Amino acid sequence: MYDLLVVGAGPYGLSIASHAAAAGLDLRVFGRPMASWRDHMPRGMFLKSEPWASNLSDPDGRWRLDEYCAGRGVAARHGEPVPVETFASYGLWFARNAVPEVDERTVTRVAPCPGGFEAVIEDGEVLHARTVALAVGVLPFVEVPAALHGLGPDLVTHSSHHGDLGRFHGRDVTVVGGGQAALETAALLAEQGTRVRVLVRADRLRWNEVPPPWERPWWQSARSPHSGLGPGWRNWFYAERPGLFRLLPRSRRERIAADALGPAGAWWVRDRVEPAVEVLLGHEVTAARPAADGVRLDVLDRRNGMVTPRCLKTGHVVAATGFRATRDRLGLLSGELRLSLATTPDGAPWVGRDLESSCPGLFLAGLMTASGFGPAMRFVHGAAFTAGTLVRGVRRRLRTGPPGAAIPAPGGRTQPAAAVRR
Ligand SMILES: Cc1cc2nc3c(=O)[nH]c(=O)nc-3n(C[C@H](O)[C@H](O)[C@H](O)COP(=O)(O)OP(=O)(O)OC[C@H]3O[C@@H](n4cnc5c(N)ncnc54)[C@H](O)[C@@H]3O)c2cc1C
Repeated sequence: MYDLLVVGAGPYGLSIASHAAAAGLDLRVFGRPMASWRDHMPRGMFLKSEPWASNLSDPDGRWRLDEYCAGRGVAARHGEPVPVETFASYGLWFARNAVPEVDERTVTRVAPCPGGFEAVIEDGEVLHARTVALAVGVLPFVEVPAALHGLGPDLVTHSSHHGDLGRFHGRDVTVVGGGQAALETAALLAEQGTRVRVLVRADRLRWNEVPPPWERPWWQSARSPHSGLGPGWRNWFYAERPGLFRLLPRSRRERIAADALGPAGAWWVRDRVEPAVEVLLGHEVTAARPAADGVRLDVLDRRNGMVTPRCLKTGHVVAATGFRATRDRLGLLSGELRLSLATTPDGAPWVGRDLESSCPGLFLAGLMTASGFGPAMRFVHGAAFTAGTLVRGVRRRLRTGPPGAAIPAPGGRTQPAAAVRR
């Protein structure tokens, strides 16, 4: 039985694996490394986060993005966006150097078993581990508005379904959403010759500002420090103090997790969107149905204080409508395990101070933990805090077992923790 099974090999899973290996844990890591970045983001995309805020985490801070870039004669400078291809290659380099061997197979099921967990791999192999870290990222949580649910995948896709937008060359596409994914997807589509429009529910677009220079007079830095989530003390707190964030009152944490750093376009995509893309503000899709050559969208136009129904025809809809990390979407967990997890009011699984769920030994990472630890958990920057904290939690769990509790076992049986510890 392994000490730890890491499910997921994106920035969070790889960072956790690096810290766990350095701590001497006997572990396995599963997942196609950097799959979200290699297969689910369009070529030509750039990172919104600064290069220095886009590091995966190893305990010595050795395998950083700037090191990777320097070795290849590429710049990783503040204020210069990093291409997604560079970041994906950096993640693979990190995996080769800072992590024990990654097994690229998918884990299809995790269930409780005496002493820990049983994991089934895609080819039927079964493994056992005392603890599990779920770092499955954003893809299990794609959010598509209910109005679009009736359309098949030839007519509607989520923005994360496209590593390549080439199939839309010469076609007519409507992108729904007002954040970076919607705006950058629309810019890339327009640049390749797709007729594209963006439907935005809000009455205006928000754009991030050009970041202040790295070197500044001290008083400017004191007034608005740099942070991994952007300049300013508020962002600094979210980025650099996730552990303190968790001590805020629950309702405040959840409000911040839902609203802070909401949809906004990067400063460098603005010039590519404004002249080239039709943006329909105050437009909400209420229904959609297949039509000749594509889709008919019923929308409400809420501009100028009036509500006007409109109908739009398009060849394909791309829902750039984000992700919602709820417990119920964790289809990888057995029904018994999933339903046993306590949730927060927004439906996300609850996590304790070292990212352990309400099931002893099951640890969570990334987007799922944002209502507990704040907006940093939605970005690569949060991986450093998560990896250190989570691995400390795993070691504590391995040392102590579930305090005064029993490890759940299949069929309603339970087994005292002490009886199953190594
Ligand atoms: C379009 C877009 C742009 C973004 N830009 C930025 C940015 O500029 N900066 C930033 O900080 N963040 C950005 N993000 C957020 C980004 O997704 C997260 O910061 C980061 O990817 C989270 O890392 P992760 O490891 O949690 O998840 P992911 O990167 O999604 O990795 C999850 C991994 O888990 C694996 N996996 C999933 N399920 C299983 C399974 N059952 N078995 C085995 N493996 C499994 C996947 O294959 C994948 O490799 C962006 C997100 C999107 C959608």
